[in-house]
Amino acid sequence: MSLLTSEEKMSRLLQVIGNPGVCGNERRPGCGAGIWWVTTKTGSHTPLNSDGTSHFATCPNAREFKLQQQKKRMAYGAPRTE
Ligand SMILES: [Zn+2]
Repeated sequence: MSLLTSEEKMSRLLQVIGNPGVCGNERRPGCGAGIWWVTTKTGSHTPLNSDGTSHFATCPNAREFKLQQQKKRMAYGAPRTE
């Protein structure tokens, strides 16, 4: 039996499937939070918080963040998928 909390489990999962990053880049400062980039089934990059929730839901700059991502999907240091 594991004694890990759900948040610890999510953190471990994200370390396996995600790529660490920070909200924001040199072109447009984000909120600076540490996030995980996860690639969805559709191939888009989604930023998650360490507890597994979408960073879009908690980022104070989420609106601008989304618009920016639509315009330029590789912004914010999202990892490349080879
Ligand atoms: Zn943010």
